Amino acid sequence: MNLYKTPKWIRKRIVILKRDEYMCRECKRYGKTTAATTVHHVIPVEKDLKLAFVNNNLLSLCASCHDAMHDRITNELTALGSLWVTRLGLSPHLEK
Ligand SMILES: [Zn+2]
Repeated sequence: MNLYKTPKWIRKRIVILKRDEYMCRECKRYGKTTAATTVHHVIPVEKDLKLAFVNNNLLSLCASCHDAMHDRITNELTALGSLWVTRLGLSPHLEK
């Protein structure tokens, strides 16, 4: 099953984009206003499926910032991707 095709995700994605005023949160750190096109899982779904729909784990990004969060080869989080995990105070081993 593809999470990104589920009605639950499609609704959640819109909630997060609205929360972030449809702007890229990473660009915003530098005072740039760029339209967000992607909702990023700060802690990837593969690492913790329980965080897939948790608002604090979701971040609106533009395509180029989203690319910068994941290694193109391994798909692991980059240093920038890991920085957001810290910034948002998230833990991949959080049990809820
Ligand atoms: Zn951006």
